[in-house]
Amino acid sequence: MHRESKATKDVVVIGAGVVGLSTAIRIQEEGGYRATVVAETFPTDPKTIRYASHWAGAHHVSAAFDDKRQREMDKGTFEIMWKDSAHGGPIQGCFLRHNHTEFRSDGVDPTEWLDYMPEFRSVSNNELVPGATRGWTFTTFTLYPPVYLNWLLGRFLTNGGTIVRAQLQHISQAMHGGISGLPQRPDAIVACVGLGARFLGGIEDKEVYPVRGQSIVLKAPWVKYSRTLSCADGSYFYMMPRVTGDVLVGGIKSANDWFPIPRKEGRDYILAGVLAICPELAPPKIRAERVPTIDDLRPLIVEEGCALPPSRNGGIRLETEWFKASPQSKIPVVYNYGHAGMGFQSSWGSASIALDLLEEALASGEPNTSKGTKQGACP
Ligand SMILES: Cc1cc2nc3c(=O)[nH]c(=O)nc-3n(C[C@H](O)[C@H](O)[C@H](O)COP(=O)(O)OP(=O)(O)OC[C@H]3O[C@@H](n4cnc5c(N)ncnc54)[C@H](O)[C@@H]3O)c2cc1C
Repeated sequence: MHRESKATKDVVVIGAGVVGLSTAIRIQEEGGYRATVVAETFPTDPKTIRYASHWAGAHHVSAAFDDKRQREMDKGTFEIMWKDSAHGGPIQGCFLRHNHTEFRSDGVDPTEWLDYMPEFRSVSNNELVPGATRGWTFTTFTLYPPVYLNWLLGRFLTNGGTIVRAQLQHISQAMHGGISGLPQRPDAIVACVGLGARFLGGIEDKEVYPVRGQSIVLKAPWVKYSRTLSCADGSYFYMMPRVTGDVLVGGIKSANDWFPIPRKEGRDYILAGVLAICPELAPPKIRAERVPTIDDLRPLIVEEGCALPPSRNGGIRLETEWFKASPQSKIPVVYNYGHAGMGFQSSWGSASIALDLLEEALASGEPNTSKGTKQGACP
């Protein structure tokens, strides 16, 4: 519940993707904060290449590898979402719990970062799909991003949050009340700007880059499980069912590729790859008669899309930088961006770390030169 007092602090969160909204809620529900989210794009908007969150699957299948911080964020997020996805829960309609199998032929064994998943086990050789040498299966969920994001937005607003639509050119614009609706003198800024971190003045983090993902949505309500295949040659295919009866399929991930619409040649590549790992995508009637081909999947296509999830060399940026807000005062800016293909599955975990950084910065009250805290400057 939102708690206000004389000591209530004004925090501006920049960004209304899954990361910005989850972080704003986490801060708001801690109590003692009045949160405002400012963003160019919100969940209620049509899909755009400038907003990655609308395009996600989104399933929870950690790919944390040896990154211990990422493992903890993913696990913490799973624990919250697992409860949220429970049958009879308040937002059950955002989620589809199902069985997932991760197939690999690249020598990677994900047991260390996936073994907490319910019913986790490795699969036997006779369960492998073509191209796989090993596999692991467990229960997880997909969430349906457009509905889930709007649920986050509604939760933030009903908790008393404020939203402002604006495209910031420089982070200082959020510090001085220069944008109508933002507090005149916020106590802190939290930047959850995804790929925007590369361009937003004052941040301009060139370690942030897009990994373009091209995907297709098929209407295949008979498919209720998901599969991924990661191959030694770097190719990667995935298919995941949503609560809507749609199945998101994909297999293209290209770093530093800014092409903003689906490439035609990508369509057949994806369809062939996912049909190989899941022939059950073809309608049951066709499968009863013959071996399906990708032509049998074409009539099922309801949408093709591509998005630019924000990757970052060095992983998610979670740290604090102090900016001069006036000749006399400094303001902490907490960063939480660069979630690559994991923004949903690490959202609550990274939001908690951002909250800790915020509390630490506000408690210290002045710049601290220890690791992770830097000095910034406004023009
Ligand atoms: C095909 C596909 C499948 C995916 N599947 C999964 C999955 O299964 N699981 C998973 O966890 N993740 C998945 N992802 C990744 C996920 O989509 C991203 O990690 C996540 O959306 C990143 O969220 P974000 O909030 O950081 O960025 P965004 O959603 O891009 O939001 C950025 C926000 O910042 C705002 N902003 C930026 N710059 C400015 C500015 N200058 N002024 C004002 N506002 C600004 C934007 O308007 C927006 O509101 C997938 C992605 C794709 C493309």
